[in-house]
Amino acid sequence: MLRMDRLLEGLDPEQRAAVEAPRGPVCVLAGAGTGKTRTITHRIAYLVQRGHVSAGQVLAVTFTARAAGEMRTRLRALGVHGAQARTFHAAALRQLRYFWPRVVGGEQWQLIDRNKLRLVAQAANRAGLSTESDSLRDLAGEIEWSKASLVAPEDYPAAAARTSRDTPAPAEQVVQVYRTYEELKNQAQLLDFDDLLLHTAAALEEHGEVAEEFRDRYRCFVVDEYQDVTPLQQRVLDAWLGERDDLTVVGDANQTIYSFAGASPRPLLDFPRRFPAAAVVRLERDYRSTPQVVELANDVIKSARGRPAGSRLRLIGQRPDGPKPTFTEFDDESLEAAAVAQRVKALLDEGVAASEIAVLYRVNAQSEVFEQALAEVGVPYQVRGGERFFQRAEVRQAMVALRSAAAHEPTGELPKVVREVLAGIGLTDEPPAGGSAREKWESLLALVELAEELVTTVDGADLPKFVTELELRAEAQHPPTVEGVTLASLHAAKGLEWDAVFLVGLVEGTLPIQHADGDEAAVEEERRLLYVGVTRARVHLWLSWALARAAGGRRYRRRSRFLYGLVPEDHPASRAVKREPLQRKPKPQCRVCGSALVDARSIKLSRCASCPSDVDEELLAKLRAWRADRARELKVPAYVVFTDATLVAIAEQRPEDVAGLVAISGIGASKLDRFGDDVLSLVRGER
Ligand code: ATP
Ligand code: MG
Repeated sequence: MLRMDRLLEGLDPEQRAAVEAPRGPVCVLAGAGTGKTRTITHRIAYLVQRGHVSAGQVLAVTFTARAAGEMRTRLRALGVHGAQARTFHAAALRQLRYFWPRVVGGEQWQLIDRNKLRLVAQAANRAGLSTESDSLRDLAGEIEWSKASLVAPEDYPAAAARTSRDTPAPAEQVVQVYRTYEELKNQAQLLDFDDLLLHTAAALEEHGEVAEEFRDRYRCFVVDEYQDVTPLQQRVLDAWLGERDDLTVVGDANQTIYSFAGASPRPLLDFPRRFPAAAVVRLERDYRSTPQVVELANDVIKSARGRPAGSRLRLIGQRPDGPKPTFTEFDDESLEAAAVAQRVKALLDEGVAASEIAVLYRVNAQSEVFEQALAEVGVPYQVRGGERFFQRAEVRQAMVALRSAAAHEPTGELPKVVREVLAGIGLTDEPPAGGSAREKWESLLALVELAEELVTTVDGADLPKFVTELELRAEAQHPPTVEGVTLASLHAAKGLEWDAVFLVGLVEGTLPIQHADGDEAAVEEERRLLYVGVTRARVHLWLSWALARAAGGRRYRRRSRFLYGLVPEDHPASRAVKREPLQRKPKPQCRVCGSALVDARSIKLSRCASCPSDVDEELLAKLRAWRADRARELKVPAYVVFTDATLVAIAEQRPEDVAGLVAISGIGASKLDRFGDDVLSLVRGER
């Protein structure tokens, strides 16, 4: 464990006050990047160090699996082992598994997972509503909102009216769907995510001996991002606490971005009233971002209205100066995406790590054009959705396949065995182009990389050991990291930070989102989303928008209202319409048959996938072996060194010199620098 002086020296006086506050209620109300997450992890370490609690008695909760993983990593770095850091749901799931036989007994339940929309569809059908997937998702959203807000079916119409919700169908019909859904779900002995929380709270509220055992086990509670707590989660928290008050909460009301799902900053803002003895700490020094980014963040939130705005403080940047945020307007989305990809490449060449770059957007559907553009320039990326890694369909399918393969005691090198098994469910050598196929491929590849990692860390790693490792990870909700540029929605980016952040697609109708229009509270939430986005950047911040969706389309869009007054006066976009100088590249052609190439893979190969290949197999094998060595040495997945397509392109084109090498897409200045000599000597047969 870290020594006490070392533990405290990385804190400023206010953070220190929160860390050293006596056991009991503590509330940290502070802006983005001021060290809230850092403060709570240090507080946990401090309490454990001082002997006030043991690590095993601490339960820290947050809202996303990634944030919980981040918290665990930070705790480990402070030498705290055995403290629980989980999402509300993961914590509830664990507790329920443990207490269920005692409070209910009998049949075990199962999590509803993907069947959920099927049940909603049946319910919608009975209510005479459309079963089209968009409307099912909206209906599911209403059920989730109701349950998170502790609203029973019969109370839905009144609650929806009170909060002026946009109901996807007449309220009475939503009630009907909600009721039927619950019935079908109970009949099938399934629990949804909200049930996990409901049953956990009920187990503690209604069973004295369960509450007693639980409260004996957990004595100290910590909640990060408390501004996004729902009434249901608050109820669980209250059940955990009982009469006790050993609770530390941290949050920023100006980052409340889940109101639409029932979250409310009220418990955070009212905390000092509920616990008059609470130590209340405000932080205003921003350690994350340069003063240039901080200034923009302050400007974004300056014009916010409503209750959360009352708690805002002007952030004061602590880092050295950096570049000014840039604002750029484009004629269409593909130009915007191409420019982002070029800038990403330039950053990579400057030495910024791919994992330190993020492209953030308002809705997941926006990712595709950026994926395409990144694929075209050969930059690895990862799309982060709301869905947890081990819950993705392809990952669960992979687990089934791996488990059954493990039962047959396969022999051979683990990564190869894993690759073969996964090939059976669609893992190709080359990444497919575009959206969900690409995402699926990345997920499967991440499993192969995990196998590669296991081989280097565990003696005699075999398939059964690997499957156990995956199950442990799934349990801990700790997905393997994929080295690459992050593509994520603004919602998924909360609490995280990157050296370079691209905020893209900043047009009216997208940010604020169309359906927020005319609803002041909803528009304010959209403004907070932009604030969350801006404050993710440490150094480089890019903001952009496109006037038309498709190339050559009508330029009818307007840039986001939130940008007015922020785009510098002398910026071309502040005058009329700006012409983006970026030229469209000539369309690449197949070097064998001459036809136009469209997908990333054939562009890299400079030929159609179906045209005859003149690959030098022997060279290719050498290149692959060399890549495996380098990847192991650099501790990165192999495709970060070079993708398969790049290796094939090298083995086909056999570049003799640097000029020939850089002509292959995917080989930029930084790759040339690091690997150029190796590759050229392999091609020349010198190695
Ligand atoms: P958010 O509101 O986005 O969740 P946060 O308030 O939780 O932000 P942290 O993530 O804890 O902020 O901290 C932001 C960054 O500043 C981190 O990289 C953290 O390590 C660093 N940091 C925080 N406090 C200090 C400090 N006293 N000295 C140096 N660096 C600090
Ligand atoms: Mg945080």
